[in-house]
Amino acid sequence: MQQTKEPSFRESVDLMFNRAAKLMDLSPGLEQKIRVCNSTYTVRFGVRLRGKIETFTGYRSVHSEHMEPVKGGIRYALSVHQDEVEALAALMTYKCALVETPFGGSKGGLCIDPRQWDEHELEQITRRFAYELIKRDLIHPAQNVPAPDMGTGEREMAWIADQYARMNTTDINAKACVTGKPPHAGGIQGRVEATGRGVQYALREFFRHKEDMARAGLTGGLDGKRVIVQGLGNVGYHAAKFLSEEDGCKVIAVIERDGALLDPKGLNIEDVRQWMNRHGGLAGYPNATHVADGAPVLEEACDILIPAAMEGVINLGNAERIRAPLIVEAANGPVTFGADEILRRKGCVIIPDMYANAGGVTVSYFEWVKNLSHIRFGRMQRRAEEARSRLLVEELERLSADKGLGWTLAEDFKERFLTGSDELALVRSGLDDTMRTAYQAMREVWHSRQDVEDLRVAAYIVSIGRVAQTYRSKGL
Ligand code: GLU
Repeated sequence: MQQTKEPSFRESVDLMFNRAAKLMDLSPGLEQKIRVCNSTYTVRFGVRLRGKIETFTGYRSVHSEHMEPVKGGIRYALSVHQDEVEALAALMTYKCALVETPFGGSKGGLCIDPRQWDEHELEQITRRFAYELIKRDLIHPAQNVPAPDMGTGEREMAWIADQYARMNTTDINAKACVTGKPPHAGGIQGRVEATGRGVQYALREFFRHKEDMARAGLTGGLDGKRVIVQGLGNVGYHAAKFLSEEDGCKVIAVIERDGALLDPKGLNIEDVRQWMNRHGGLAGYPNATHVADGAPVLEEACDILIPAAMEGVINLGNAERIRAPLIVEAANGPVTFGADEILRRKGCVIIPDMYANAGGVTVSYFEWVKNLSHIRFGRMQRRAEEARSRLLVEELERLSADKGLGWTLAEDFKERFLTGSDELALVRSGLDDTMRTAYQAMREVWHSRQDVEDLRVAAYIVSIGRVAQTYRSKGL
């Protein structure tokens, strides 16, 4: 449980910002300008549901408009409040700067338990919330572009896009008003998996650097590494699935609302998720050990801990007992400022949220570009690429036959070489490149400066530096 002496989430983000700003050469005025949240709009609206009027409270915070549009998800949860939305909006600013998506930072939230309402009711609520935001240009392709977050997904984004289109019938770029839409409604391949995929690419990049692994006391590759994942929602599920199915990691525990599943040999993530979809939780899953209290499982011995649910789950109350040498923050703000200090002292390496979970906004950027260009990625090049590959294969085969060399190209190679990149392949390639480049920018600061202890401060320094540069070039 979170203790009272812990700062709030927003204060925690500010304190982390201050740690980095102290090491930078910013004028106090500019430092303050970057730190503060520009504005938060609160709306209370009524929707007639089940025979009476229900009032809902929603927020849209804009942290920084150094670039526009501003970007960030909309969260549906009962725990949503202004402090949280502002902290998340600030993280969006730094995240976008770090992975070079040309956006400012924003975030939205609606106080609601989405499981309490059926689909039709959720549509009415979402459309009404969207209406309130659209009316004030807080949803707009050139000014503010929301996306999914906890409690929302493709379905809600499709409703928002449609609501915007109804209110802006002549806007040819209407679809770019929101990202994370389903593919049939202007979305892009690979957006749903993007954040989890980004976590995988982040870890792969970390494991390419022996020096960085050594800081966590890790050796070898990802193969065989013991992983604990907290939260098997969209992000945790995809990260756990890809790491176990493609990189040989053993997911020895997953933690959810109703406890945890443990298997030292490694869980079958797809199987666990199917079970969750059918039964609403982990309990009763037959192929692993279930414990009702999930919290202590965070403290189990493992190589990599991936908190992929809520903020503040690693706090002053449990940080001392965390045994993982490497934490990957797939969620936003899972480690509090105080816990971060304790973990650093213990030698734990943390791959920070603003980098680790940036896969989502990166692919959102690709979707936004796709919507503005009105053409699917790969549509022009794919077959041309295939034709050139075929030319080469045919020439190799002709040479081999002519000279009697008896070469045969492996069927598997041929098939892969002759397949042009479709949208999904291009999205993954762009995401991989983004994750690698951003990691390298962080580690460059981490290793080149004596006063930079950890990746989080390095990430903030890179991000704040970029935001500062943009402000300066605007004459601020
Ligand atoms: N909600 C996600 C995040 O926290 C995605 C934001 C976006 O795609 O704009 O990064």
